[in-house]
Amino acid sequence: IARDPEEKEFHQAVHEVASTLAPFLDKNPKYTDAKILERIAEPERVIIFRVPWVDDKGEVHVNRGYRVQMNSAIGPYKGGIRFHPSVCLSVLKFLAFEQVFKNSLTTLPMGGGKGGADFDPKGKSDNEVMRFCQSFMSELYRHIGPNTDVPAGDIGVGAREVGYMFGQYKKLQNEFTGVLTGKGRNWGGSLIRPESTGYGTLYFAKEMLEAHGKSIEGKTILISGSGNVAQFATEKAIHLGAKVVTLSDSNGTIYDPEGITEEKLDFIKELKNVKRGRIKEYADHYGCEYLEGKRPWSIKCDIAIPCATQNEINGDDAKELIKNGCFCVAEGANMPSTPGAFDVFLSAKILYGPAKAVNAGGVSTSGLEMTQNSMRLCWCRDEVDERLSTIMKNIHEQCMTYGKEGDYINYAAGANIAGFVKVADAMLDQGIV
Ligand code: NDP
Repeated sequence: IARDPEEKEFHQAVHEVASTLAPFLDKNPKYTDAKILERIAEPERVIIFRVPWVDDKGEVHVNRGYRVQMNSAIGPYKGGIRFHPSVCLSVLKFLAFEQVFKNSLTTLPMGGGKGGADFDPKGKSDNEVMRFCQSFMSELYRHIGPNTDVPAGDIGVGAREVGYMFGQYKKLQNEFTGVLTGKGRNWGGSLIRPESTGYGTLYFAKEMLEAHGKSIEGKTILISGSGNVAQFATEKAIHLGAKVVTLSDSNGTIYDPEGITEEKLDFIKELKNVKRGRIKEYADHYGCEYLEGKRPWSIKCDIAIPCATQNEINGDDAKELIKNGCFCVAEGANMPSTPGAFDVFLSAKILYGPAKAVNAGGVSTSGLEMTQNSMRLCWCRDEVDERLSTIMKNIHEQCMTYGKEGDYINYAAGANIAGFVKVADAMLDQGIV
């Protein structure tokens, strides 16, 4: 904290991990003697660069680009790229730090990283987005590679942006390699990658419920966000027989007590992915309630699945959720719960699935995309989905093994310890580097 006092999100993430790891580290001094936690909390490398670009009117803009290469003990750096005005070093360091543990939990050989820029794709034309992505990659390309660092999408970076960045990388390096994941189906992308974070989130929620004698069928679910993760979490929830009653964006929340059907979800996909419109248009179209400027957490539910952004559930929201009967929170977004909300969920002993376990399906399928690229083949949809579901089961089991506290499963502690051990042991093996 003394070193970077202004990096609040990063400190929040490190504090959450350090506090849940403390009892484990006390019993295992080999990790504290080698200062593993201090080393994991310091990025191996941070790259910061200028991203100049020209808009459609010919005006020049300058954004700041970043890549945080956090830890490569168990594989090449791996983690998404975020384009959002709130992007700064603190946010990317927190995301990269979380990514190290998440990638370890997947059982695949991937280190942790994260990158992005303070660029807002909202309201920009396709050509402006393309020019920005090309400028961003014109610097980033020299720091990444299929055996070094393999970025993917995140907030504001979907198939369109990954395509433009991949095109520029290929042109500059004159090689066709799996340097990015989330690629298009015809040029190296994996089936199920777009669906994987949302689907994986529901697979994990299902495991949590079943391990506690409950079923997801018939449950009422609140989902926040309406982007990639939210859309496919909704889709899988519908497939599993649950009822999703909310979605949101940064302007407000739609509340549809009848439940979002597959047909209504198609409307949302078209609205958000093609027309790039606002979620309010769903309420106008289907005549349901729109909560301007509000998040979903005051509505009665069984399960809450935040899928928008960090710190979107505070302590008061958490109390309100529990008061209204919510017994399970599965984090699709990264660090969506503030420390206050985290404390409320753990003291109430509800089923609380932390992001690094719950949303690991996305990076897992990215890992499967890397494998397919290396083998130069393409698995069918069912094969990838089956592997994803097996990985999510495996992550759930690791959390159960390390998170057992009497009758209660502390999934947060379980995920942190299980994720830590694999990386820490690799760091011990590789010496002080
Ligand atoms: P998208 O850009 O597709 O969607 C993000 C959604 O969240 C949009 O509805 C957006 O609304 C909303 N949102 C973003 N920032 C804010 C904010 N500050 N306040 C309120 N709403 C906000 O991103 P993804 O769905 O890919 O990512 C969502 C979350 O999931 C992030 O935390 C991300 O790190 C995490 N995640 C994503 C993975 C992936 O594979 N995509 C993998 C693992 C985690 P608006 O349009 O108004 O900005």
